[in-house]
Amino acid sequence: MPFAPPPGCVTRFAPSPTGLLHLGHAHSALFAARAAEQAGGRFLLRIEDIDATRCRPEFTAAILEDLAWLGLAWEEPVRVQSARMAGYGASLDSLRARGLLYPCFCTRGDIAAAIGAAHGPMGGSSAIYPGTCRNLPRAEAEARIAAGRPYALRLDVTRALAETGPLTFTDLIHGPRRCTPETQGDVVLARKDIPASYHLCVTQDDAEQGVTLVTRGEDLLEATDIHRLLQALMGWPAPLYAHHGLIRDAEGKRLAKRDQAPTLRAMRASGMSPAEVRAAAGFP
Ligand code: GLU
Repeated sequence: MPFAPPPGCVTRFAPSPTGLLHLGHAHSALFAARAAEQAGGRFLLRIEDIDATRCRPEFTAAILEDLAWLGLAWEEPVRVQSARMAGYGASLDSLRARGLLYPCFCTRGDIAAAIGAAHGPMGGSSAIYPGTCRNLPRAEAEARIAAGRPYALRLDVTRALAETGPLTFTDLIHGPRRCTPETQGDVVLARKDIPASYHLCVTQDDAEQGVTLVTRGEDLLEATDIHRLLQALMGWPAPLYAHHGLIRDAEGKRLAKRDQAPTLRAMRASGMSPAEVRAAAGFP
C-alpha cells in the first residue's frame, strides 16, 4: 500500500456495468478493499448503472461473480444507482430552485460550431461548453421546454463558486489540491436519456453511504474538483481521496474496455488462479 489509509476508513469500489472487468478494475477494487482492511475500516461495493444506454444487467452479474472469485468481500446490500433516481432528482430540484442549474438545448453540433466560431477556423482544442444557453431568457427556455425540445441541465459553475468560495481537497497520494472546476465549464448534471449524471450520483452516494476515503484512478482527479463543488453546495461532507496510478499495457497505454483489454474472465479461463490475478493487479 503506497499510502497510509486513516483508521476506520470507509472505502468503496464503484464500477459501471458497461463491460467485463479487466486488470485495471481489479487493481482499483483491491486498492479500496486493502485500504479498508489495513485500516480496520469497511469496504463497500456500488454499481453505477445510471447510463441505461450503455449498462447491462448481465455485466452487473459478471462483476459480482468476478470480484468474489478474486477473493473480495464487501458489505451487503450493494447499492445500485438505477434504484435511486428519486434521490438524485431531489438534489437536482433543489439546485435548480436555487438558480444553480440551467436548461441547455444545444446539440453536440451546436457546441462544436460555437467553439469553432470562438476560436477561429482551427477550432478550440478543448471541448468546454461555451455557455450558449446560460443567459437564455427564462421565458424563452420555458417556451422551448413546453414545446418538447430536449434539454440537459448544466451547473452554472461561476454562480456555484460564488456561493461556495474557493475549494480544496486532500489527496493522500497527490497531496493537497486546489479545485478549479471552472476550467471544465458548466458540466451537465442531467440529460434526457440519463436523468442524473455521473458527477451528481457518485458524489451523492459517497455522502449518503458515509464513504470517508474515495479511492479511484488518477484519471478522475479532475472530476473531484466538480465533486467538491457539489459537496459544498449540498452540504455533504468532504471525504479524503486517494487517486491511484493506472495499470498500463506493454505500450504504456492505460487499460480500457474499448481496447479489448484482457478481462478477468479471460485470465481465469486461461488457468490463472485468483492469487495470480491479484499479483498481476499489483496486490500479491
Ligand atoms: N463508475 C466509475 C467508473 O467505472 C467510477 C466512479 C468512481 O470511482 O468515482 O469509471
